[in-house]
Amino acid sequence: MSEAVFLRCIRPACGSTYALTDQRYVCASCGSLLDVAYEWGRLAPPKSLSFFGSRWGTRNEPLNYSGVWRFRELLPFAPTHAMVTVGEGQTLLQAPDVGALDIPLRSGRLHFQYEGMNPSGSFKDNGMTAAFTMARFLGRRRVGCASTGNTSASMAMYASLTRHSDGTAMRGVVFIGAGKIAYGKLSQALDFGALTLQIDGDFDACMKRIREAADRLDLYLMNSMNPFRLEGQKTIMYRVLEGLGWEVPDWIVVPGGNLGNSSAFGKAFIELKELGLISRVPRLAVVNAEGANTFYELFARNGLRWDDGNWDQPVVRQMYDGLTATGRKAETVASAIEIARPVNLPKALRALDAMDGVVTEVSDDCILEEKARIGRCGFGCEPASAASLAGLRRLLAEGTIDTDANVVCILTGHALKDPNVTVRYHTGIESIPAQEPAAATARFANRPIRVPDDLDAICEAIESYS
Ligand SMILES: *Cc1c(COP(=O)(O)O)cnc(C)c1O
Ligand SMILES: [Zn+2]
Repeated sequence: MSEAVFLRCIRPACGSTYALTDQRYVCASCGSLLDVAYEWGRLAPPKSLSFFGSRWGTRNEPLNYSGVWRFRELLPFAPTHAMVTVGEGQTLLQAPDVGALDIPLRSGRLHFQYEGMNPSGSFKDNGMTAAFTMARFLGRRRVGCASTGNTSASMAMYASLTRHSDGTAMRGVVFIGAGKIAYGKLSQALDFGALTLQIDGDFDACMKRIREAADRLDLYLMNSMNPFRLEGQKTIMYRVLEGLGWEVPDWIVVPGGNLGNSSAFGKAFIELKELGLISRVPRLAVVNAEGANTFYELFARNGLRWDDGNWDQPVVRQMYDGLTATGRKAETVASAIEIARPVNLPKALRALDAMDGVVTEVSDDCILEEKARIGRCGFGCEPASAASLAGLRRLLAEGTIDTDANVVCILTGHALKDPNVTVRYHTGIESIPAQEPAAATARFANRPIRVPDDLDAICEAIESYS
């Protein structure tokens, strides 16, 4: 008998399926991304979303307290005893003062889903708790990710607190680019004890290398191409609905980097609709920074569409070849979305298709200004998060979003993640030098190890450490 939960190629024309425990990130026959797929008829999902409200009365039970696992019937891929939690997802839908923000929406129609309130300070915890649950279920002991910062902070945190049933620990390996990483994020990876490799290359180079290293070593990949990450991130949307009394808003506005969130939100709503738990789907706006606008270029300028899973792959390849040929790299103050080759691109196209979505782009100046405005309202966030409000302002001005609409902006990360940008914005002073040597007396110093952009050297550094 086939299993009720399995992995499936995202391209309907391919449709290859794999066992849940088959440890792969892309389809063996066509190379596309994979979904965690459910045969809902055999899984007894709840009949209405208000079912989840019954969990509020039993918050002493850690899985019911978790903002991810209290929705476990909607991501039923692992037994409850395998679920890892640290109380992630205690995030509230906030209603900022539209007057103070000077945003032309009706009062009470703008909401901030404040994901900076997660234990490691970004929405990434929603996905990591799910991916670590799977890592534990699979008995994996070494986990790794390429990161612009928050993925590594979250992964390092979960790696340091997850134990296998026999008591053995997990070992986290982080690949960061030689370019920008906000100190708030780097400090977390170091403090949580992850092996931190600083590769001489940008995020896209790190992403490529960690995929190669994962193939060669026993290393479980924790980037958002791991489909279990996205299962956890679906719950951000469940909490938005919860915050609105299970009503569906008109728009969700989210910054787009590797496009994991956009993809997860699309999957969440596709499934809720299929299950009959909602009657309509909100629209989705994905916001790129101008300096990292591949998705905007492809969707808005080149007309790239999901097209039932037959998206125009040569157009994407041509774009990437162009980036390589001109040596153009992503460059934005919003380091969390400083990505030129978004791994989840096809899944995000599917999300835009299902949610009648749009993609826009905003300048760094707008991002910084909106960040300061959000701060003035008492909701600190990091630069990438503020792209959502900047995108909303632009879409309102262009008439894409109606001033009557009910809008939710996702504030993806906490203000303290990147204090340098904030201090520089307010004072003009470059606060901290880029590379300060660790103090010689620091007892738990966990220094990044410089590694050339070379797979042998990278693997050697990992092997010699653990
Ligand atoms: C990771 C991250 C993003 C980008 O999210 P994707 O799912 O990669 O598109 C945006 N903001 C913050 C704060 C992040 O950490
Ligand atoms: Zn396939």
